Amino acid sequence: MYKQAKWDEPLIFEVGKHSKQGLLVDDEFRQEFLDAINDIPGEYLRKTGPLIPSLSEVEVVRHFTRLSQMSYGIDVGSVPLGSCTMKYNPKVSEDIAGRDSVCFIHPYQDESTIQGLLRILYLMQTWLKEITGTDVCSLQPPAGASGELAGALMIRKYHEDRGELDRNEMLIPDSAHGSNPASAVMAGFKVVKIPTDPNGDTDVDALRASISNRTAGIMLTNPSTLGLFESRILEISDIVHKAGGLLYYDGANLNGILGIARPGDMGFDVVHINLHKTFAAPHGGGGPGAGAVCAKGVLKDYVPAPIVDYDGRRFYFKYDVRRSIGRVSWFYGNIVPIIKSFIYLACLGPRVREVAEISVLNTNYFMKEVTKLPGVDLVYGRDRWRKHEVVLSFNKLHRDTGVTAEDIAKALLDRGFHAPTIYFPLIVPEAHMVELTESESKEYIDSLVEAYKGIVRQAYSAPESLRRAPQNTSIKRLDPLPANHPRTMAPTYKYIGRLKEHRKLLKG
Ligand SMILES: *Cc1c(COP(=O)(O)O)cnc(C)c1O
Repeated sequence: MYKQAKWDEPLIFEVGKHSKQGLLVDDEFRQEFLDAINDIPGEYLRKTGPLIPSLSEVEVVRHFTRLSQMSYGIDVGSVPLGSCTMKYNPKVSEDIAGRDSVCFIHPYQDESTIQGLLRILYLMQTWLKEITGTDVCSLQPPAGASGELAGALMIRKYHEDRGELDRNEMLIPDSAHGSNPASAVMAGFKVVKIPTDPNGDTDVDALRASISNRTAGIMLTNPSTLGLFESRILEISDIVHKAGGLLYYDGANLNGILGIARPGDMGFDVVHINLHKTFAAPHGGGGPGAGAVCAKGVLKDYVPAPIVDYDGRRFYFKYDVRRSIGRVSWFYGNIVPIIKSFIYLACLGPRVREVAEISVLNTNYFMKEVTKLPGVDLVYGRDRWRKHEVVLSFNKLHRDTGVTAEDIAKALLDRGFHAPTIYFPLIVPEAHMVELTESESKEYIDSLVEAYKGIVRQAYSAPESLRRAPQNTSIKRLDPLPANHPRTMAPTYKYIGRLKEHRKLLKG
């Protein structure tokens, strides 16, 4: 079992207060440096030395290696965050995207000097159109939520162009990611919530009742955040289109149907893809994302410009997209995650459907094993297979023992696993939303099931002990309220508290 290293690593300022030298500078270079300083007028020179840590090389190396051992990431173990699709990122993507020929390109460089990059972007647009079943692709949005906003603005502009200014309602199921209603509101829509039926599908009767000539469209995630394929999607598409509305596809869960089914064929007019989830680019720690937006039919002229085009001779940025909503981001979006995703796709080629097949197999194997445990339930669509993820409910276990979904998540940390997404979607009480992706082996999934088994046993025999979890991690249980409150964060995180001290010293 993987155990987190419990270093109590001090701040680098605290390690390096003994005035050591890390580097022996060559005498000649040193002289050059001193000459350069001599050119600076005396009034601009500081009177006291800066309070920067002074360490030997070995101290620096150990400090950062210990810090790296205190944290957890996809290269240490699975990060089974449902909906967020955190898969292993092949190192070949990192290697190529990190080359000088990529990193030192300037956005104002002449197009003739970046034909290679433009070709990558052009091919990526082509592949994403093929994968989603759409006509046009813009790589500009820098994240999924940004793609959502772009899509919602496209829908709005389409209705405006037709003079249908009263269409100001966006239908959104109650299982949706919070960014869906947020994007709809930012684009000027009123959100109409659609309930989920016991089977786990969008409640079609409720949908019918909510449809009117004020309906601008519907934002759907398919497979849904419950990991279920919307079994009546064609009927939904029909209802919304007949009423004059459009369909928006939230592509965060595309991993479950990649290369097998296409949103464009299901009737969706506009689609965003979280490249950093479905393909490759490390995310979750605030890393940059990429939220390409693809459209077909009536919306194809509305995508954010520029897009990359080819005239048979050269690749170029096409700014002239007839009804484009305009820019949603600086330059051409986040190029690096796009390149990483391109390499991931290029390596797989037509075998990309195996990604979905294995991730679906992994999810259902996990679901079958873990739902054998007492106190664990599925709430929606109990007899249905899942796609890429499964939402477990520990509601019964909670009622039986008082142990919460959060306690169980913390106990997973003690056993060396990253916790899944918890308390989402909101319609499932005491939820754990688990997504293993295609990265994990059967052996790994078995070990995760074993961990759940141990925790459930502990919940029924010694529930109190779970309240103190985690114990095996560098930082123990945080009080989530103060930990999330900016003003009271400092005393909770002792590191942050100590950092502040040092900042004061630096200022003083
Ligand atoms: C992650 C996610 C989003 C938002 O995507 P970001 O890239 O994080 O902005 C939207 N919908 C669903 C279902 C998601 O899982």
